[in-house]
Amino acid sequence: MSEPVVFRNGSVLTMDDAHTVLTGADVLVVDDKIAEVGVGLAVPEGTVEIDATGGIVMPGMIDTHRHMWQTAMRGYGADWTLTQYFVWYYLESGKLFRPEDIYAGNLLSAIEAIDAGVTTTVDWSHGLQTPQHADAAVDALEAVPGRFVLAYGNIQQGPWEWSTSDGFRDFVNRRISSGNDMLGFQMAFDVTGDPSFPEKAAFEVARELGVPVTTHAGVWGATNDDGIRLMHENGFMTPQNIYVHSATLNKDSYHRIAATGGSVSVSTESEQSAGQGYPPTWTLRDHNIPVSLSMDTSVWWSGDLFSAMRTTLGADRSREHMAAHANAETVTHLHLRAEQVVDWATRGGSKALGLDDKVGSLQPGKKADIVLIKNDASPVMFPILNPYGHVAFQAQRGDVHTVMVNGRLVKRDHRLVDVDLAAARAKVEATVEHLIGEMGQEAWEKGMNPDIPETKVMDNPYTYTQWDAGSAQWKH
Ligand SMILES: [Zn+2]
Repeated sequence: MSEPVVFRNGSVLTMDDAHTVLTGADVLVVDDKIAEVGVGLAVPEGTVEIDATGGIVMPGMIDTHRHMWQTAMRGYGADWTLTQYFVWYYLESGKLFRPEDIYAGNLLSAIEAIDAGVTTTVDWSHGLQTPQHADAAVDALEAVPGRFVLAYGNIQQGPWEWSTSDGFRDFVNRRISSGNDMLGFQMAFDVTGDPSFPEKAAFEVARELGVPVTTHAGVWGATNDDGIRLMHENGFMTPQNIYVHSATLNKDSYHRIAATGGSVSVSTESEQSAGQGYPPTWTLRDHNIPVSLSMDTSVWWSGDLFSAMRTTLGADRSREHMAAHANAETVTHLHLRAEQVVDWATRGGSKALGLDDKVGSLQPGKKADIVLIKNDASPVMFPILNPYGHVAFQAQRGDVHTVMVNGRLVKRDHRLVDVDLAAARAKVEATVEHLIGEMGQEAWEKGMNPDIPETKVMDNPYTYTQWDAGSAQWKH
């Protein structure tokens, strides 16, 4: 193991159960664990000192749903709806991804995660057309010193097909081990609501393997209350399940989720642009359903949980005001607080993933996944009066100064440590070249530029008049 490390003299958001905040405090890391948190810590000889003065020290953030393979097409679908996304990946071009393309996307996404202070990311990997694709996905995750959870999926087959194949079973045996907290495992598939419930076979595999299921639920036009009811009636709703989006479910479905202890991964930026439904935090609050945050896919957005916190606050508050105004009322006190979204971005994730005994807070004995937000060159880093508000609304990932994962410094002084960005760039460029080559330049361009519906500018009564200089009056 390397020498101990101490973060000195920062504003420390411990995110422990009491949400203890310490100012001018230190966090000492020995080996892969947090040894002590407090003011003026005495440290062992040879400890590496990181000056956190003027900065915020917080737990590494946790993203519970990201289709990392799609990062190879970063930004391509910026103007897509969910329909265009489905057509592109599910129907037309998703099958063009080779194992090396999965690798390229995952590698870039994994690097982006640690750079942004996201120390644990669920790779919602639904492009695994073959076990070779899955090997490539894991190879990339293992090449980057972050904490990941592979959520295995394959949109080119029904879950009852791939999950029962010998190739899948062999992959799990070869690559996944239960005690590995650097690489967790889930199964990722959606439940269509087909009354014959074909997904049952996949749930049975998950139960047999003892792995959680993550599923896009409550996605407008795609997954609905029938899916939730089928899962519940067949006994497959467990506390480990993660229901992604859950934006268009009825009360009965939310009751079923709450009663069985599952959690919801809210992807506010995605829900706002793509059309899964209104970001559901406002109603999850009423049902007391636990929340974690996610960024979904970099084909639209980036792997930036500051953005997730910010948009989630905005969407929740926006809806609260709109609902009040519809009743001619004024919101005087907001329900959703900055402190809450910081909790969702840290503890929310660790609880959802069953990792809460290991990560999610800065407490002695936990694994050292730590982010220092500090930027001495930025006018935005002072004064730090409300540290939760500062994280949610003021800071951005360019302010992520130092990142530690499992006791290892992976970013220091705003620079990634031992990461070959040029190699990742070359791999991603090869994937883009491959996709353009297969699709043709014209189809590639067209896929990126969906038609814009016509905007009909409404009639404006004030434009029907003109100034008559003779009579010095407006005339109709
Ligand atoms: Zn998704």
